[in-house]
Amino acid sequence: MNKLNLIQEIEKKLLGVSETPFLDAKFFVEGCEQKGVLISENLIDDFIERRKKKEPVSKIIESRGFWALDFYVTKDVLDPRPDSETLIEAVLEQFPDKQRDLSILDIGTGSGCLLVSLLYEYKNAVGTGVDISLKALEVAKKNALPYKASFYEKDFYSSDFQKGLARYDIIISNPPYIKTDEVLQLEDNVRLYDPLLALDGGKDGLEAYRRLAVVIKLILKENGFIFFEIGKGQAQDVISIMQSSGFEFLKSYKDLGQIERVLVFRLH
Ligand code: GLN
Repeated sequence: MNKLNLIQEIEKKLLGVSETPFLDAKFFVEGCEQKGVLISENLIDDFIERRKKKEPVSKIIESRGFWALDFYVTKDVLDPRPDSETLIEAVLEQFPDKQRDLSILDIGTGSGCLLVSLLYEYKNAVGTGVDISLKALEVAKKNALPYKASFYEKDFYSSDFQKGLARYDIIISNPPYIKTDEVLQLEDNVRLYDPLLALDGGKDGLEAYRRLAVVIKLILKENGFIFFEIGKGQAQDVISIMQSSGFEFLKSYKDLGQIERVLVFRLH
C-alpha cells in the first residue's frame, strides 16, 4: 500500500475520533517513517485508541514542529504551541542583528523549543536552560544537541536560584500562568497530557511572574531584556508587577489569534 492510501485508511478510522483526521494520520505515518518504525495493524489500533483518549498526536509520535525545527517531546514537557512562536518573533524584532554573540537564559525551558529556536536563529549565541524537572531537562538536552547550550536543574522559588548562573543579555520564560481553579477546566488534550507543573500559575495565575520579577534582577545584564509569554488578559497585571520591581515595559506582541501573548521589558 502506498503512503497516501495508508494515510487515508487511518484517516477513515479517525472519523468521529479527531477533528483533524487527515492531518493526524499524516503526522502519524510520517512520524513513524522518521523514527524508522514499521506501521503494523497493532500500532494503528494503539494510535486510534490513544487519540480516542485525546492524547495529542505529538505526544504519541514524540515529535512536534515549532518555528523552524522538529522537537522531541514527551509527557514530561509542555507541548510546543504555535502561540509561543510570538516570543521568537519578538526577540528577532528587538535584536535584528543575527550575528550577535548573545547570552540567553530560558527559565522553565521544558522541551527547550524557545531556547533552541533562538540558538538556531542566532548562530553565535550561547544558551542556558533551567527547569525544575530533570525529565524535562533530558528532553531539552536532546533537542539542543547541535547547539551551544547548557542545562541546569533549578527551582526559581529556591533561595539559591541564581547560584551558578551568570548574567545574561536576554532572559526568556513561558512560565505556568493558568489559574489553579482553571487547570481542571482545560481541554483533555492539555489537562491530561501536559505536565501540571508547566501550567499551574497559582491562585491568580501570576505567581511565577511575581517571583521572576525579583530573581531575574540578579542574573540580568545591565540593559538586558526580558521576554515573557503571558496568558490571555494578563498583560496589565504582569506589566504592573514588573514595573513595581523596576523594569521598563517596552512592547507587547499579539499571537495569531490577536491575543497579547508576549511582553518585553528592560532593566537599566
Ligand atoms: N498556553 C498554555 C495553554 O494554553 C499554557 C502554558 C503556560 O501556562 N505557560 O494551556
